[in-house]
Amino acid sequence: MTGVTGTRAVVIIGSGFGGIGMGIALRKAGIDDFVILEKAADLGGTWRDNQYPGCACDIPSPLYSFSYELNPSWTRLFAPQPEIWQYLRACAASYQIGPHIRYGCEVEGMDWDQASRTWTVHTAGGDDYTAHAVVSAAGVLHIPKLPDIPGADSFAGPRFHSSHWDHSVDLAGQRVAVIGTGASAVQFIPRIAPSAAQLRVFQRTPPWIQPRADFEISPRLRRALATVPGSARGLRDFIYWLLELRALGFTVDPRLMAPLQAMARRHLARQVRDPALRAALTPDYTLGCKRMLFSSDYYPALQLPQVALETSPITAITPAGIRCGSSMYAADVLIYATGFRVTDAAVELNVTGRDGRKLADAWQDGVEAYRGITVDGFPNFFMLLGPNTTLGHTSVVFMIESQVQHVLSCLRLAGPGGVVEVREPALRQYNDALQRRLRKAVWTAGGCRSWYLDDDGINRAIWPGFSFEYWARTRRARRTAYQVAQAPERAGQLRSAATRRASRR
Ligand code: NAP
Repeated sequence: MTGVTGTRAVVIIGSGFGGIGMGIALRKAGIDDFVILEKAADLGGTWRDNQYPGCACDIPSPLYSFSYELNPSWTRLFAPQPEIWQYLRACAASYQIGPHIRYGCEVEGMDWDQASRTWTVHTAGGDDYTAHAVVSAAGVLHIPKLPDIPGADSFAGPRFHSSHWDHSVDLAGQRVAVIGTGASAVQFIPRIAPSAAQLRVFQRTPPWIQPRADFEISPRLRRALATVPGSARGLRDFIYWLLELRALGFTVDPRLMAPLQAMARRHLARQVRDPALRAALTPDYTLGCKRMLFSSDYYPALQLPQVALETSPITAITPAGIRCGSSMYAADVLIYATGFRVTDAAVELNVTGRDGRKLADAWQDGVEAYRGITVDGFPNFFMLLGPNTTLGHTSVVFMIESQVQHVLSCLRLAGPGGVVEVREPALRQYNDALQRRLRKAVWTAGGCRSWYLDDDGINRAIWPGFSFEYWARTRRARRTAYQVAQAPERAGQLRSAATRRASRR
């Protein structure tokens, strides 16, 4: 089917936490006239895509959830992926979001038309959707980053990225090679190690790992959380403030990371006795510079007899395995746990704003947005988890909720059919201050490279403050930051109302 559909109030792109949260907020605000375009066949974003063994959240679930949909049924403190995915589906169902979602709709581009004050969103299937506003909730971490290693395409056996796990490949009895030791790898390596004939883990940089304080939430405790008034809210608030303490080292002074680093060092010393292996697993940068990891079974898995850690740089991939200089390591299966291409995600939406300006051009010197949400030249276009809004210390769902609130505030400012666009000086001032603050923060000063930094070493990913600070700053869209043009008929109504009021006086 191809064609142009009628103009809607809002088009949302993506149906992960951001897209579903935005849809719920619109419905609560009485705006039903929206669609959610989802490229896949199901909702869930990250929590639909990542199905590798052991996939779970590394933020406690009572906080990694919507503040208005507390779930007393989490079975573990750090819920496994299927539960989080199910939670999102349940939220979508209870707010009747399903009928708004168009599955299999991959967005190929979108253009702003100044005359009609609408966006036209083009999809790969040929359908166009017009709307007064677009909210991109396309996510940050969904485009796999496959390293450019010579011979990568020549590998003879099955190979896949952690976010596209091939469950048809039985790893039992196989020689498995894993490239990467980030957040995904430390979750699945303990699960696949016991049955593999041989598992080689190729590490470029060791991560800092804290013990994972996970536990089963007993049926009794779950009943209490469901029935005792205030208990689920109290637990969430307790976790929120506990994790917010971690922000001190991130936001105030990297030296405040010392206690957490000492704890991680003790964890390593307790779990790894072999001095050579321990040395290979000891990071040489400040904790927090890369994402801090949590695992109590990763180090033990590395010490299983069939598992080996390789730290020499990979020089080539051959049909038979992985070459590191003169050493050749045979493998039957190759798993990339090499992370995601980050800054390309919003650019790939191919956004053309006012006066034909491309978002990719606006961002040629680096991605930036006012409060991570809006860019000048792109009226009525909003991003969830846009530039500098991901976090190192607590739940991004909290950030998403703050952003959703900001988008609603912008839409209210514009009024039905109106236009809201951030003023360039507001964006400039905001980003200059943000970057000044980031210069001395742990992600830049901590002595490592991570996906948080762009090619120029500038942090375009992280919010460098307490999450409540971001919440406070995004609660209301202000006229000092936004220029607003009401819909002509509405502006006319407002003008006559003002005239009537004046003549009554
Ligand atoms: P990642 O943290 O970016 O880790 C990628 C790993 O691949 C790193 O160890 C990296 O080494 C390595 N690597 C990349 N290119 C390589 C190459 N050419 N040769 C050798 N090694 C190479 O990716 P991820 O583990 O998928 O995690 C990405 C993000 O997803 C996390 O930071 C986190 O935000 C999110 N995540 C969250 C959860 C959760 O529980 N909430 C779970 C998983 C992931 P270097 O360190 O040397 O670059």
